[in-house]
Amino acid sequence: MNQSLRILLWDLDGTLVRGKRLGTFKDYTAPMLELVFGTAGCLRDLVVSGMTDLQIVEEALRGEGITREHIYLRRDELRRCYLEEMKRAVTTGAHVIEPIPGGREVLQAVHEHPRYASALLTGNIEPAAHFKVEVAGLAEFFTLPGAFGDESFDRRDLPASAARRINEYLGAELKPEQFIVIGDTPSDIACARHFGARVIAVATGRIHSAEDLRAGEPDALLPDLLDVDLVMETLAKL
Ligand SMILES: [Mg+2]
Repeated sequence: MNQSLRILLWDLDGTLVRGKRLGTFKDYTAPMLELVFGTAGCLRDLVVSGMTDLQIVEEALRGEGITREHIYLRRDELRRCYLEEMKRAVTTGAHVIEPIPGGREVLQAVHEHPRYASALLTGNIEPAAHFKVEVAGLAEFFTLPGAFGDESFDRRDLPASAARRINEYLGAELKPEQFIVIGDTPSDIACARHFGARVIAVATGRIHSAEDLRAGEPDALLPDLLDVDLVMETLAKL
């Protein structure tokens, strides 16, 4: 039973959810950084796809002399302010979080299939990830523990930590190749490879084309999640 099990490690932004407009997350992230660190640094100029939230903060503030240690020390405050600003932006309608078309249907299909279980592997800080999944109406599919962007400055650390938690939770010893990362950026592919997991790239993000993703040599590449049968056939080979 355990050997046939596959754990799908889902990326969030660009894969299962997206902001209605590109880059609106900076509208609430900038004031949050100003509140916690007194500056948003070069956040406005960053291309942040595939980065963890801690990494985004580090890159944005590097030029201001704010180090990784400073950021670690203020991590709890960062989490709290980040979630507050995000909730405010969503409540006022300034930021609209939408599910990616087909995502719900795919999550439902894998949920009903005994070979699969789903978990989150996202660069979002954990409370923000749960909030987004809730807003998008997808929370029911994520009962397993996952890995999140407030635990590392490097996405490549996340699959191992998700796997450790999931193995503990299930009382199992699943092998790296039983995990399948699903994401929309070259960083998703890189983090899967770093751990030894399989990876499906989906060209649903706004930054990376199918061609960009193909260059990272994922195990499979899908244009989107609209064709549930195609997604299931692709998963069945991994
Ligand atoms: Mg993404």
